[in-house]
Amino acid sequence: MAQEIAERVQHVLAQIEAIRPGEGVKLMAVTKMRTREEALAAVAAGAQLIGENKVQEAKDKWHEKPPVPLHLIGHLQTNKVKYTIDLFDSVDSIDSEKVAEALNQRVTDRLAVMLEINAGQEASKTGMFPQHVRAFLEQAHRWPHLQFIGMMALFPSAVGTTLDEKKKIRALMKETGELWRTCREERFPWAPLDELSMGMTDDYEWALEAGTTIVRLGTALFGPRTY
Ligand SMILES: *Cc1c(COP(=O)(O)O)cnc(C)c1O
Repeated sequence: MAQEIAERVQHVLAQIEAIRPGEGVKLMAVTKMRTREEALAAVAAGAQLIGENKVQEAKDKWHEKPPVPLHLIGHLQTNKVKYTIDLFDSVDSIDSEKVAEALNQRVTDRLAVMLEINAGQEASKTGMFPQHVRAFLEQAHRWPHLQFIGMMALFPSAVGTTLDEKKKIRALMKETGELWRTCREERFPWAPLDELSMGMTDDYEWALEAGTTIVRLGTALFGPRTY
């Protein structure tokens, strides 16, 4: 098991290095439905971050903290705020004032967060629509305990789509890269936006071409999930 995961991680790291040599793009191992041992094997092989979707699952799995930063990449229910703050190094799924407000109220010091963007404006996905991002960031100083370290973007699935639809996803990734760069140039003290997290197993090469700083991979590292 560990050997297979290590080989997959090394393959992905080589891909990252081939497309964006020397830039320090980070690999986030997405460990939903994976054991602690599987996750730790990915970290030992070079994954720099761990992403979990559910607070409860993460709490059960990481009662002993992982050796690399742990990010929440799934939707946050506001009744889980306390555990979230204790457990995660970053909450990457801020997509509403309500969630920002709830976190800000409970954080005593400072919490790293990312803005979640629904790039394709799909009804089935969470995340803020791209056209609302800028206005949201401008007023994010209202939550002094939150530091917006980046953006996490979701895209329509490329699996089983036509060439034309694939082109659209690639264009959307480029646009999202542009949006991230323009917002970062604003240099809001509360939003340094150093990170752009986009790209999953089926589209991470495109995300690398579009300038991402973090790719989030599950299947490519651990094989298919069985629900
Ligand atoms: C599950 C998940 C991933 C990883 O998906 P794979 O296709 O298995 O690489 C990445 N990001 C988010 C938000 C996810 O929920």
